[in-house]
Amino acid sequence: MESVKHEGIFRSAHEAVVFACNYAAQQYAMSPMAKLLQRGSSGSGRGLIGLDGAAQSGMVLAELGNIDYVQMLVLVARCAPRKERCECNHSCCGGWKPNPLYRDAVSQLADLVVPALGGVFTLRRFRLAAIEKFFGEKLKMKDVAADLNIPPRTAERHASIINAYLKDTEKTAWTEWYGQLDYAGMLFSQNS
Ligand SMILES: [Zn+2]
Repeated sequence: MESVKHEGIFRSAHEAVVFACNYAAQQYAMSPMAKLLQRGSSGSGRGLIGLDGAAQSGMVLAELGNIDYVQMLVLVARCAPRKERCECNHSCCGGWKPNPLYRDAVSQLADLVVPALGGVFTLRRFRLAAIEKFFGEKLKMKDVAADLNIPPRTAERHASIINAYLKDTEKTAWTEWYGQLDYAGMLFSQNS
């Protein structure tokens, strides 16, 4: 996919992905990741000024589609709102539900993190919990391990491998993403 030159609109690479994730969460709450990226790549055009949120968000998503897939998932998991308002009015509902975009990102990561474990066997539910914790969910890995009958030291070791992998991947992802947006001219120039 080729990058289109845009006029700068975002102050930072972080702001761009937060914007797209928030916008996508509002607009296409029920769409899976694949649909989002499809929408993203159809959002072609030049110059962000005067374009509506959908077009801007589409351009950011198109650029996101240009970076490594796992890196993209990490950025989405970091920036997408974890929860969204629920209007179901059921008495059992706390008024919030998981944001499908976030859920989809962490769920895919739970599978894609496997090679980083170098053949070590882990339960998917454990990987998912470690990933959710990395992205800020309040989980006690000790409790998760106990629930899944995983010995504490094994759990600790596996969680730390997953953590290190995500930390590295996120660091690289932000560098790549900044480069991608900068190249596409979507960031405000620092000197202007
Ligand atoms: Zn509800």
